[in-house]
Amino acid sequence: MALRRYTFRLYPNKTQERELFAARRLHGYLYNACIAHRRFEWKKNQKTVDYFQQQNCLPAFKKEWVEFAYLHSQALQSTVKRVDLAHNSFLKGLRGLPKFKAIRNYSGWTYSSRSGWKAKTNGKHGVVTLNDLGITLKMRGQAKSWCTPTTLTIVYKPSKKQWFASFTCNVSVEQAKFGSLSDLKYESIVAFDLGTATAITCFDGKKFEEVSNPRFTKNTEKKVKQESKKLRRKRAPNRKKSIKASNRWKKARRQVSKLQRKVANQRADWQHKITSDIASRHDIGVTEKLNTKGLTRKARQGSKRKKRESAVLGVSPMSNFRKKQKAGLNKSILSVGFGTLNQMIAYKIEAKGGLLLRLNTRRVKPSQRCPKCGTVHKDWANLSNRYHICDSCNFEIERDRGSVLVMYNVATNQQQGCGTHLSDSGCLSSTSLTSKRKHTGSMKQLGQMKRQKSQRNSKVHGKPHRLALG
Ligand SMILES: [Zn+2]
Repeated sequence: MALRRYTFRLYPNKTQERELFAARRLHGYLYNACIAHRRFEWKKNQKTVDYFQQQNCLPAFKKEWVEFAYLHSQALQSTVKRVDLAHNSFLKGLRGLPKFKAIRNYSGWTYSSRSGWKAKTNGKHGVVTLNDLGITLKMRGQAKSWCTPTTLTIVYKPSKKQWFASFTCNVSVEQAKFGSLSDLKYESIVAFDLGTATAITCFDGKKFEEVSNPRFTKNTEKKVKQESKKLRRKRAPNRKKSIKASNRWKKARRQVSKLQRKVANQRADWQHKITSDIASRHDIGVTEKLNTKGLTRKARQGSKRKKRESAVLGVSPMSNFRKKQKAGLNKSILSVGFGTLNQMIAYKIEAKGGLLLRLNTRRVKPSQRCPKCGTVHKDWANLSNRYHICDSCNFEIERDRGSVLVMYNVATNQQQGCGTHLSDSGCLSSTSLTSKRKHTGSMKQLGQMKRQKSQRNSKVHGKPHRLALG
């Protein structure tokens, strides 16, 4: 089983849309109220409010504020949970303190279980009924494989002025054809690497395949820049000085977001086409673990110590040229969407019962290793070094091709100097590599937490007895 999300566009009529907006506003108010509650308790009493305290407040809250009474209780709970998630990720240092959200930008609400709504669809168009609002909405869209949906999120996109229904479904995935790593058949195995000069380089054992980088942003960037300049010249809103946006400003902003949306759509379309093509032709994918976050990190000025040293020597720690170079690299990495490409190939290969192997970059060093003799060349790590010639065996190959070849060889146990077993190269199969997101307590994990909590409580209650016995 795999959890999939399917999004359908909703087509509400005027009265239905009014209902949707009203519900969204209420959920937004609740969200802000929860944040206010947490802030107040912290400021006054230095107390942290947890999710359960707020959840238990809901019935009393509904009695006091009767306009909330008609909304589905689980939907309200999941809005409270949103605040909790935001707060937890703040405590983990993943983002800043949760802010109050403007109602006009508030995205929507979630039904966390199967109650409160009903979807009449087999994955192709259909209708969805929201019981608490008492409306049935037409929806359009298609799901590749459909099953009974488990949760529903209603989303409003202000920039598009469109409503969406986003379902999560437990879709059954074909059982993996390969029992364990040692049973691997190397019939349709593909090694791929994501680069900047060529977006994807593949090697399937016979020939190389290169997918060039489309660089959408480059084409549209100029236009976006022009339009943004126009936008800056119009009267922007300033809520503090109570200046309203001019109609020309609104119009210009629509134009900018239209262009940005176009780029996003083009990118998504391209990504899906490319990854579907690769995944449909091969059963096993081999790649390296990629750290996009590190790759696209801003070019740093260097450590404090380095700064001091360079101040003494009178040289700049990182030349402006290098900074610009890094910025350019970042842009082209982000323009293709590295992380998404990797994920897409992974889930598409898995969806058809294949396997994705991720090699440990540090141990395998695909871009520094000679595919033929296995010698590691430290100077190959330099990105400007596009063509590699091995000084110990005179093997020569292009940079991207070389690293793909190394990965293919490692996966098929043909690589020199890398051990004879896949586990030697720190290989992780896709099954063992579910995304390593830091746990911030999702709705799904809530049930577990509740259970743990009740166990803890019973333990606390049980303690005095034991003490009494002792
Ligand atoms: Zn060599």
